[in-house]
Amino acid sequence: MTGEPQDDCLFCKIVAGQIPATIVRETDTTVAFRDINPQAPTHVLVIPKAHHQDAAALAADAPQLAADVLRETRAVADEEKLDSYRTVFNTGTGAGQTVWHAHAHVLGGRGLEWPPG
Ligand code: IMP
Repeated sequence: MTGEPQDDCLFCKIVAGQIPATIVRETDTTVAFRDINPQAPTHVLVIPKAHHQDAAALAADAPQLAADVLRETRAVADEEKLDSYRTVFNTGTGAGQTVWHAHAHVLGGRGLEWPPG
């Protein structure tokens, strides 16, 4: 069921402390941690603690929680002292989503080209 922890979900395990992560921020509803394979000097993932499979499901089923995630991307950028940064939600296999727990990438610390690949 959406919102419930999933036994086979990597990010649910990070939320539960069962898998180590470099956590940079935590709120009642969200966790932000460094991406294990960083694509920029700052590459942080912001996730809702509750399980939603992607950004589309999160926005549809829990819009207040989606807002919490978005607010935290800004907080991460502030803490990392990023004047410019990119927030990315890969949604669906064709867009590069590999982990099926909604997450925002916060990327910054270098020039970022547009459009992305
Ligand atoms: P996606 O491709 O948009 O689904 O992003 C998933 C991200 O999770 C990728 O950038 C991975 O590098 C990252 N990732 C996978 N496993 C871990 C982990 O255990 N800790 C932190 N980041 C991870």
